[in-house]
Order: sequence, then C-alpha cells, then structure tokens
Amino acid sequence: MKIPFNKPYFTGKETTYMLEAVESGMISGNGTFTQKCHAFFESKYSFRNVLLTTSCTDALEMSAILINIEPGDEVIMPSYTFVSTANAFVLRGAKIVFADVGPDIPNIDPGKLEQLITKKTKAIVIVHYAGISCDLDKIMKLVKRYNLYLIEDAAHSIDSFYENRRLGSFGHLATFSFHETKNIMSGEGGMLVINDKSFANRAEIIWEKGTNRAAFQRGEVDKYEWIDVGSSFLPSDLTAAVLFAQLENIEEIQTKRKQIWQYYFDKLVHLQNRGNIQLPVIPPYASNNGHLFYLVTRSKQVRDNLIAYLGKKGIQAVFHYLPLHLSDFYKSKHGGRILENTERFSDCLLRLPFYFQLGNEKLDFICETVVDFFNENNNPG
Ligand SMILES: *Cc1c(COP(=O)(O)O)cnc(C)c1O
Repeated sequence: MKIPFNKPYFTGKETTYMLEAVESGMISGNGTFTQKCHAFFESKYSFRNVLLTTSCTDALEMSAILINIEPGDEVIMPSYTFVSTANAFVLRGAKIVFADVGPDIPNIDPGKLEQLITKKTKAIVIVHYAGISCDLDKIMKLVKRYNLYLIEDAAHSIDSFYENRRLGSFGHLATFSFHETKNIMSGEGGMLVINDKSFANRAEIIWEKGTNRAAFQRGEVDKYEWIDVGSSFLPSDLTAAVLFAQLENIEEIQTKRKQIWQYYFDKLVHLQNRGNIQLPVIPPYASNNGHLFYLVTRSKQVRDNLIAYLGKKGIQAVFHYLPLHLSDFYKSKHGGRILENTERFSDCLLRLPFYFQLGNEKLDFICETVVDFFNENNNPG
C-alpha cells in the first residue's frame, strides 16, 4: 500500500467551470468566476471585502504594501511558519522580530509578545497553525494598546473560528491560501481579506498593477491610469473557476476532513495517555477545521525514526517548518534569542497523510503502523 502525504481532491465541477470560462471568451483576472468567489466570501463568510490573489504569498506582499512598511520598521511574527510570512515584509525592508510559540500549541505565545514591542514595531503577524486559533483576546489587547497593525496569515484557517467569529475577520488584513495542500484549493491561489475598510480602495489599485482598472471596468472612470505602486496580484479567471467549484462543495469537504481528523485522534489518543506522543490541543475558544493532523514525539530521534518506519511501509509522513530565525538567510540578523518551543516543534512534530479521499481502511493501516512503531521500539521516549 502506498499512501502519499497529500492528494488534491476535485469535486467534479472544476473542468465544467473552466470550459465555461473559456467559452465566455474571457479568462483574464477579475472576471465572472473571480466575482462569484468574491460574492461567496462576502455573503456566506461575511468578510467585508476580499480580493482573490495568485497565492497567499502575494496576499501577504499586498498587506506589507498596504500598511506602508518601510526600511527600519519592525514586524513581530512567529518563527514557526512558512517563509512567505516573513519574506513579504523583508521585501519592503522590514526587520523581522521572531517570537516563540507556546509550549503546548505551535501558535505565537501572547505572553512573550509585549517584551518584543519597541517604538519601531509596526505590525504583528499571526499564524493560526493547523487552523487552530491563536489566543486572539490577548493579542487584540496588545494590538490596541500599542496601536499596531494586526495581519492574520490564515493560510491554514478556512472555515475555522475563535469563539463564534471566523478566523480571517480579526486582523486589519488577513490572507488565505488555496495552494493544492490546503483544504480548499485551486492549485496555486490565495485571497486577501480587507477588514479595515480604509484599505479597500488602495488594495484594489495595488492588485491591478497600481492602476484604477477595476474602477474603469465598473464604468466609474473613463480611462485607467497609473495611480500607485502595485503588481499583478490577481489570478486568471480559470483559477477562480476551479476555486468556485471547490467553494460550492466546501461543506462536504469540511465535514469529511473533520471526520478524518477525529478518526486519527480517537485511534491514537491511547499513545498520548501512555506518554509516547502529544496530540494537538484545541483550546476552549478555538475550533478545529481539519486542516492537518500532527503528533509530537518526545525527541527528534524518535520523530525521524517514526518517519523512516512509516516510509518503509509506504506511508509518507512529513515534518513541518524549519525555524526561520535559524535559517541561513536570517540567523545573523536574528541576534541569538533562543526560541525553545519553536525548536522543539520543528524537531518533534510529525504530520500524517491528510486528504479527502483517505478512507478508513488506510487510516486504520496508518494508525496501526504508528502503534506498532511504539510497541516494537518499546520506547516511551
Ligand atoms: C501555505 C502557506 C503560505 C503560502 O501559501 P501560498 O498560497 O503557497 O503562497 C503562507 N503561510 C502559511 C502559514 C502557509 O501554510
């Protein structure tokens, strides 16, 4: 049996909608399917204002432009994240101040944030790891007290909540990813959510290469011209056609993914009770959106051995982020602060295969193999 880590799921309507877009004669950006996707999020998700982008990376770059990041500005973010979270701000000249994550949850630790804030701090960027919400109450209080911008990198967080409010609706800006490895996908793709409406007009201009072409398309101006900095951040309508097919089936996708997550949890929880592993912690304020399933071993050696053991049985398990503050690119700029929880999650966290088509037979096989590993190795640590 070969079980890959990820396998894209197609709902069936993707090619129908792509064909429809082609036959309509217009597949460039901001077309019919782009607008359908915008309407979906603005009505069903009650996001005030959204723009599809070619990736979450691009949505983050738009955010850095929108909040006017300048050389010397400091931006606080977790080190335990994807490189794009940091790169977007580095591209504008920011200094990244990396914060540690909590001991139990790989989300930024709000208790360690205040000491990192200086006069130069302009923004805090948070990542809701695995779609499990950060402690927003504490973070929002700091953001208000120090008058900072809050950006949510919500790449993992579609259809997830803090209390009863959707992730992606808290930051001045929030960014989503529709990369093939995310719950809802269009191959490559992303979205910027603009919750602070003072950014709405400028966002649309930056999105359209720094021009007012979107206003021109709506007939609001009689020619379009260069207004501001910008780039080509908008996706082809073919990408939006794929995304729309996924959005129409979001409930089915989410129901299935949450079932898979629970199945893993129930089959592996006895290993946690035995002290072999730590399973994800979901705080009372957070929801679970079935983005990914991870377990944490007690040492890097055990984690690496388990990946190899699963690999021999045809199961592709993977580790996750390498700490950005220890990267070749940033370690000399970081200044040596030790982020111990970040290093531990980087060393000991393992992600199990996770995709819509993963049936119970395969899930049983994966879980039994994990259990066999701990039994055979007779290894509590
Ligand atoms: C996937 C991911 C991104 C990048 O998303 P793209 O759409 O591939 O650009 C950024 N941040 C986090 C936390 C991610 O998981």
